[in-house]
Amino acid sequence: MPAPVTGPKWERLKQELWPGEFHGIDSDCPNPYCDYNLTPEDIQDAEYANGKFTCPQCRWSWNLMSDPEDTRDRTRTGMTLGEMGKLGEDVVKQYAKEMQGIPEIGQLIWESPVYNDPIDLVAGDYAIEVKSLHSEVFPRFKIAADPGSGMKRADVIRKKIQRMAELSNHLGKQLYPGMIGARLNFYTARADFFFAPEYKDRLMTAMQHVGFTDFSKLNPFKRPEDVQKMSLPAQGETSDYSDIPF
Ligand SMILES: [Zn+2]
Repeated sequence: MPAPVTGPKWERLKQELWPGEFHGIDSDCPNPYCDYNLTPEDIQDAEYANGKFTCPQCRWSWNLMSDPEDTRDRTRTGMTLGEMGKLGEDVVKQYAKEMQGIPEIGQLIWESPVYNDPIDLVAGDYAIEVKSLHSEVFPRFKIAADPGSGMKRADVIRKKIQRMAELSNHLGKQLYPGMIGARLNFYTARADFFFAPEYKDRLMTAMQHVGFTDFSKLNPFKRPEDVQKMSLPAQGETSDYSDIPF
């Protein structure tokens, strides 16, 4: 487990951007809105299902047997790295579209239609790769954290440089490497964006803060009361079987 980040830079950043930040209810369910705690029966049920468990209160599913500190295949949310990466990408793309670009970086010129493109979007002069982080984990964005790719960091970076060159040709404009880190707080649905003009692992404190947005619409976590409302049949829908004679 990495050492907690301390130091004046980090403290200043937290004070400046997220004073008194709230990370949700402390409970066994990874959904920050949900206060469900596991019973011994739940744990037993999950064991029979190879760890798979669905919260009875909010319907969030995750694997109880995966180590929550081991973020190689699962993130803290119970989402896979792929799901988390895609969410970050979608949040940044939505923000770039709303703002018609990214402040301090430039206008949105191009965006990849697919997930897993070595470059996610072009803004200003930069061919940008988006990386995502949960707000409660070590604040370092890793350029090569591509789930399941099995590629070495050098190969990942080489592919990005190659794609950047292709896009430079395609767009008729010299592009430069850029990385946007999206820090996602699932409880407040606030995403903060950090930028660095390179493809390299970076501490959040060593990047430029270029904006933030509300990602409620894309937030996969639902409030338990909303989930319960959704799963209740609407009035009138229960009449399907009322014609069956007894
Ligand atoms: Zn729950």
